[in-house]
Amino acid sequence: MNVIQSDGFKVEIIRSKRRKTMALAVGNGTVKVRMPARLALHHAERFVEQKQHWIKAKLAQNPPIEDRLYRDGETLPSLGDLLTLDISPGQGKNRIYRDGDTLFITTRQKTPSQAALQKLVTDWYKQQAADYLIRRCNALAESSGLRPASVEVKTYKARWGSCTISGKVQLNWKLVMAPTAIIDYVIIHELCHLEQHNHSPAFWQLVGQFDPNFTQHRAWLKANGQQLQL
Ligand SMILES: [Zn+2]
Repeated sequence: MNVIQSDGFKVEIIRSKRRKTMALAVGNGTVKVRMPARLALHHAERFVEQKQHWIKAKLAQNPPIEDRLYRDGETLPSLGDLLTLDISPGQGKNRIYRDGDTLFITTRQKTPSQAALQKLVTDWYKQQAADYLIRRCNALAESSGLRPASVEVKTYKARWGSCTISGKVQLNWKLVMAPTAIIDYVIIHELCHLEQHNHSPAFWQLVGQFDPNFTQHRAWLKANGQQLQL
């Protein structure tokens, strides 16, 4: 693998025999160029130079995601609130509960690993998601008249929700880390797919009927969605 050092950022070069053209990808603080195996490196350098402004703008929009630290005083987003962690190790049993804006954790281990704490927190969020998202989806289905066949909360890597042709709505549990207006937008988006299984102007018009600020909500999700991670 080659790396080009450009003005203020590094570019990873990935060569492939099957590839016929060059392609650029920017995300999570990294820049990658995929290029045909036999093409000389200076073509990639030239390509990157031409796209420099675009790359810098993209990197500024998508800063690298830092690993969370599970320790006292760290905060986690939940339904528009910021919860502060309060961890008490060596308490005989593992427990996690919210009181006000504090997320209390007790652990059996005297020095719990980050992975163990992450698992406790993730399980708690999934539980919150199962309660909140399903209740909210049912309420919005009622008020909009767009009633899904079923609602399910799932783990997705790269999407917030989905709606099948048979009318099943599925929502990503990580949504509970977003503000409530954003969650409503995603639910409305999926419910509107019950009538329009596409992203046509008619679809967006329907979304706009139930969420007049959907453009801002969609933009928020695009800009901040990757931070909704544990
Ligand atoms: Zn959609």
